This record gives sequence, structure tokens and C-alpha cells, in this order.
Amino acid sequence: MTLAVTLARDLTAAAFIALGAAIAYRWYRDRGRAQGMLALALISLAAVAGLGRVEEQPPAVLSIVELVLFLLSAYFVLLFRNEFIPLGSGAFQVANALLGASIVIAVLYATVFSAAPAVWRTLLALELVLAWAILSGEPVVRLWLASNSLPPVQKARLRYLSFGFAVLIVLLIVAVLGGSRLQSPVAVLVTQLVALVAVPAIYVSLAPPSLVRRIWRMGEEDALRGAMQDLLIFSPSRQVLAERAVFWGVRLLGGKAGFMVDADGKMIATAGIEPDRAAALVASPERVVRAPMHLREGEGYLAVIAGSFTPIFGSDEISQLNAYANSVSAGLHRVAVTERMAQLEQTKSEFLNLASHELRGPITVIRGYVSMLQGGLLGHLNERGQKAVAVMEAKVLEMNEVIEEMIESARLEEGGLTLRRVPSDLRELAREAADIVAPLVDPNHRVVLDLPERRVRANVDPERTRTIVVNLLSNAIKYSPSGGEITCQVRSRNGIAKVAVTDEGIGIANENLGVLFTRFGRVLTPETEHLKGTGLGLFLGRQLARLQGGDILVTSVEGKGSTFTLQLPTVGSGEDASASVGADAATA
Ligand code: ADP
Repeated sequence: MTLAVTLARDLTAAAFIALGAAIAYRWYRDRGRAQGMLALALISLAAVAGLGRVEEQPPAVLSIVELVLFLLSAYFVLLFRNEFIPLGSGAFQVANALLGASIVIAVLYATVFSAAPAVWRTLLALELVLAWAILSGEPVVRLWLASNSLPPVQKARLRYLSFGFAVLIVLLIVAVLGGSRLQSPVAVLVTQLVALVAVPAIYVSLAPPSLVRRIWRMGEEDALRGAMQDLLIFSPSRQVLAERAVFWGVRLLGGKAGFMVDADGKMIATAGIEPDRAAALVASPERVVRAPMHLREGEGYLAVIAGSFTPIFGSDEISQLNAYANSVSAGLHRVAVTERMAQLEQTKSEFLNLASHELRGPITVIRGYVSMLQGGLLGHLNERGQKAVAVMEAKVLEMNEVIEEMIESARLEEGGLTLRRVPSDLRELAREAADIVAPLVDPNHRVVLDLPERRVRANVDPERTRTIVVNLLSNAIKYSPSGGEITCQVRSRNGIAKVAVTDEGIGIANENLGVLFTRFGRVLTPETEHLKGTGLGLFLGRQLARLQGGDILVTSVEGKGSTFTLQLPTVGSGEDASASVGADAATA
């Protein structure tokens, strides 16, 4: 048993010495004040463990050195805490006084009182252990509490550190209070083994392997991934993305604050710090962890300012910040492209608006003259003249349609489109639409109106709805160049009114259906590329239908023909009908 006890003591001492050596080595490689304090604490503790194994009855000098190192180890833990959360000057004075008094007691304990009665010696030992427990216990509790507000990795690191020291404190107090009762081999074996537990806990907190760090981080990984996705994909502008990126960068590293600097050296965004203070830090980068960002205009960087707890961050986190900065650079690039595209879209809309309004006036004049010519108001026309006027009328109609589409599209973009909804009979609108397109119909086509006897009433803007049907009919004519029958069927069922325009034309391949309803979306095939069009009609038609609680759906067979169906809620079916219109959608 004594052999086991000796072995356990040696093992514990060896473990502490190894811990001290490992920490000293880390400190040598990566010097920082906080790490330095902790290294000193652990090296002192390792020295105490080593000295304790040298001789059973050490000479007084050795005992004094051992005891002073023991007290200093706790004092260094306090200094380590001071690096993170500064102590008040009053607290410092108390700590210094406690240390001073305890060193005096340690000297007395090893000299004058070396042969004193056991009670005296126990009392003095108790003071020493209590001083040690106070000096190292306060930081343990404080660091544990502070860890609550930290990201997972730092939180776990501080907690393991606190746990390791807490184990040592409890053991020491128990050992002193237990006195001779704890001298039995079993008790010694147990305390030595428990002390051994503190070693890996402290080591993991100081130098956690990346696997352990990854496990600690797992809990937050999902939230982080979600936030990053939002950040990179959905940020509406460069500024917003930069601000969010800095916020998450700080969070990622557990820093106190952060900022982002553009390629031209200008501050783009800050988090947790005033921009002018951040600007001052640009000049003194010592306290700042930087990750380069490769921007289109040159190199900028994302910086995280070391907070109280950042010094114990590892290289894993730094390389993570670098990878993060790369993603953010890509995100910034994407947002810049999107912003530019939005600008182009805006210019295009403005141009459409301007051009269409400028064209509207002259077209109205031409239409007036064409109708005067047709009506014979400008004198009698011969047969060739009348044919020419019919062609002019058809062309003017086409031009007018294009201009109206451009104006409507611009209005829709600007949100300036107001609908004048009144109960309207869709049969009427279909008839009027057929009349309007009549000039486009050539002898190859036959337009059939299939209307029910009863009214089909929908609460819609009559002019816009007529325009939708006109567009469907003129498309049916345009995209059936070899002629055929075109039917315009109006029906009403289950609160849904339908105007279905069917042709026997070129049809549309399934894979092209998606493009039909997009702005400027046209299907270009050898059969259609010579046909004129803007690609605005169906886009506008669907938007207008949807604004009125309806939709436009399409079914088509390539080479056989298409059916475009305008659906609208009937009067009295309530606004909910829009839902059922949507639900009824089979294709589109
Ligand atoms: P436009 O006719 O001015 O090009 P639209 O938005 O009205 O624009 O139509 C978009 C595209 O949908 C057309 O370019 C054409 O390729 C296709 N399309 C529309 N109607 C039909 C139809 N009845 N048959 C075949 N293709 C059609």
C-alpha cells in the first residue's frame, strides 16, 4: 500500500511538473501578460509538487521556499484574473497585505514553530491554506461567472480552468482540516488521484486540442451557420453586410469590439466601439487581431479588438477568422454586384418611363388621323389607300400596346399603379377585347367567342383586365402564324371566373414555361425570333391578375397550341377566393 501511495504522490507531482513545463513552453512561444501570469502560477505549483517529493523532512530553507512558492502560485492566479478583469486598488492592497502576512507566517511555520504543538501548527497551516484559497478562489469564482457571457470556446476554457483550481482548493482545505485522519494510505491515494483530475482540466483550458474546441463550439455552430448564411445571401447592401459581418466576427472570436477597413483605408463598419476610437487603433495594431479581406478594389481587413478574454484564443480561431473574412469578402463582392444591377434596373425603368411617355403623344395624334382617314373625313380614299390605312391601323394598335405595356411596367416598378376595381362582366370585357384585336386577325385565323348566357361578374379594374385579355388574344394570333382557330372561353365555377384563350399555334416547350411571366421574358426559337415583342405582356398580365386576387396559368403542347387562362375571383366570393384561385393552379 505504501508503495501505491508513494507512486500516486510521484505521479501527481510528475503530472504537475509536466503541466508547468508545457505551460512554460507555450508561454515561451507566444508571450502575453495573461498567459505569463498563469504560467508563473502553474510553474510555482509544479515546483511545490517537485520540492514536496525531494525529502520527507526538508530543511527549513527548503520549506520556506516551498511555502512561499505555494502562496505565490495563488497570487499569480489573482494577477491572471487582473489581466482579464482588473482588480480595484483596494482589493489589490488587501491581497498584497494577505500575501505579505502569509509569507511571514510561512517563515514562522518553517522555523520558530517547526516543533510547536500540533494545534499551533494546524492553525498556522490553516491560515496558509485559507490565504491560498482566497487568493486563487476569488479569481476562480469571478472567471466562472464572467464565462457566462462568452462564446462557447472561451466559456469552456475558463470553466475548465476554474474547475481545475477549485479541485485543488477543496483538496487542500480538506487535507489541512482532516489533519492526521487523512494520513491513512487510502485517504492519501484518493486525494492524490483527485488532484490528478485537476491537471488535464487545467491543461485543456490552456491548450485545448482543436477537436475539443470543435466539440465545445458545436452547440453554437448551427446558429452561426444560419447567421452567416443570412449575412452573406440576404444582406441588402454593402453597409448592412459589413456591419453584420463585424458583429459576427467579434462574436466568433469572443473579442470586445471589431471594425472593418476598406481597401482605401476608410472605416466601413464598427461594432462595440466608436468609429473614431477604432480609427485610432488602425495606427496601433498591437491589440488588434486582423484578417485580410481581398476586395475588388484592393486589400481591406476585418479586425477584432482583444477583449478581456481574447488572449487565451488559439490559432484555430485565428485561422477561422481568416476563413470567415474570405467569405465576407465574397459576400461584399456579391452585394456590390447586386447593388450595381439594381442601379441598372432603376435606370432601365426610368428610361422605359420616359420613352413611353414621350411616345404616347405622337401615337395619339397618328391614331386620330388614321381613324379620320378611315371615316372619310379627310376625303375619299381609293381601294389601295383603304388597304394601306387598314395596315396602318393594325401597326398603330401594336405600337400603342407596346407603349401602354411600357408605361404600366414602369408604374408597377415604382409602386404607382392604382387599380380601380368595380364589378365587371367578364363577357363584356372579352367581347371588347376581341373587337380591339380584330384588325390583327388575318383570313387564316378564326376568333371564336364562347360566352355563357349568365353574367360572369368579377370585382376588377375593367380597363386593365381588358388589356390582359387583349394581350392573350394578340399573342394567340401572333404565335399561330399558320392560322387556325382561336377561342376565347369565359366561364365561372366555384367562385372563380376564367377567361381561357386557346390557339392552335406553335406552342411552348415545357422547359420554357418558366420564362414566360418574367419581365422581358421571351422564348426565342427559329419560329419566334422574327416575331416582334417586348416580353412585357405576360409579366404585366400576371402581376395585374395577382393584384386583383387572381392569376394567369398556361398549358401548352409544343407544335400543337397553347391555352392561357386568366383566373379571377367572382363578385361575392370574397377576397379569400384568391387563395382558391392559387390552389386551383395546375400549371404555370
Ligand atoms: P411578347 O409577346 O411581347 O414577346 P409576352 O409577355 O406577351 O411578350 O409573351 C412572352 C413570350 O411568351 C413570348 O415572347 C412568346 O415566346 C411566349 N408566348 C406568349 N403567348 C404565346 C402563345 N399563345 N403561344 C406560344 N408562345 C407564346
